[in-house]
Amino acid sequence: MPRVYIGRCRSYDPAEVAAAVQQAVQALGGMHRYVQPGQRVLLKPNLLLLKPPETAICTHPAVVQAVAALVREAGGVPLIADSPGGGALHNEPSLRSLYRITGMEAVARATGAHLNMDCRGLQVPGPKGGTVETLDVMRPAVEADVIINLPKLKTHGLLRYTGAVKNLFGLVPGRTKLEYHARLRDAARFAEMLLDLALWARPALTIIDAIVGMEGDGPSAGRPKPMGLLVASDDCTAADVAALDLIGMAAETVLTVRAAVGRGLSTGKAGDLEVLGESLAAAHVPDFDAPSPGFSDVMLERPGDPQATDRCTGCGVCAENCPVGAIAIEGRRAHTDLERCIRCYCCQELCPQHAVELR
Ligand code: SF4
Ligand code: SF4
Repeated sequence: MPRVYIGRCRSYDPAEVAAAVQQAVQALGGMHRYVQPGQRVLLKPNLLLLKPPETAICTHPAVVQAVAALVREAGGVPLIADSPGGGALHNEPSLRSLYRITGMEAVARATGAHLNMDCRGLQVPGPKGGTVETLDVMRPAVEADVIINLPKLKTHGLLRYTGAVKNLFGLVPGRTKLEYHARLRDAARFAEMLLDLALWARPALTIIDAIVGMEGDGPSAGRPKPMGLLVASDDCTAADVAALDLIGMAAETVLTVRAAVGRGLSTGKAGDLEVLGESLAAAHVPDFDAPSPGFSDVMLERPGDPQATDRCTGCGVCAENCPVGAIAIEGRRAHTDLERCIRCYCCQELCPQHAVELR
């Protein structure tokens, strides 16, 4: 039975977060279960955009700092690494800005963790029985002895929810992510690939930052949602099933969970988890603004059309990151060729003005 720990943490006060993370890791057996002295430990936060912690788009630095400190205590060598959304940002100068703005630079200073600047990718075999034969991943993920997954709990345009499994898509370097969107146009196949990636990465430990999550139009245009929780597990899908139960979303409507159920890796039922710490009922988050229950099915049959609204400034970020070149900037406004569009919603995810709506 997969084990999941649910813990309370009311704020991002560093001391409070450090205590809550320590308690979570202790409940699962202690950091020495996951990290041996001298091991290279890749910490994978969600660093989707160059946005500060209070926007609730990225994993909060206090969580990353607490985990990095425990890894150091266990004798491991922590490396913070992510490839942010889109491809244009994945080079050393942009990564430096990303780390500074998201608070990771300060984490590195405080803990001695390294910041990844290696943007090269490697091809690795996909898991047996998976959807893809090969996966393209960042080199440091291949070289790491241990991966610790540090997602942010948020809603998501394409998949309804992003947490443990979806967070690992950031191991795919730069613009290669856009090629995956172009190649795997069907959302269910895309979710199967995400599961392949999670099975390849096999993070030893996942700690979801649900202290403040995001509801509404996530993963970047939604509203911060204070929840005061951490969700920790050795098992990515189990962590997602628990997190979904906490926010009142049916796990079977999330395609990454559906993929795991289809492969017999999970029942998708929170009742089949061994829950440590707070009970799921006691920690339930009331009034979480999730996409409507039938959203995934509706999206598969009739995906929404992305359209730029009046907030569009014509900056061109969406056009640069559209995997199929469906967006043109004309008259300082984005125009989408809906015949060409594959409904990956990268434009909605990456628009700095939150100007793209799905209709
Ligand atoms: S990214 Fe947003 S603001 Fe920029 S052109 Fe596209 S829709 Fe407009
Ligand atoms: S227009 Fe937007 S949703 Fe359509 S393919 Fe391009 S990035 Fe994806």
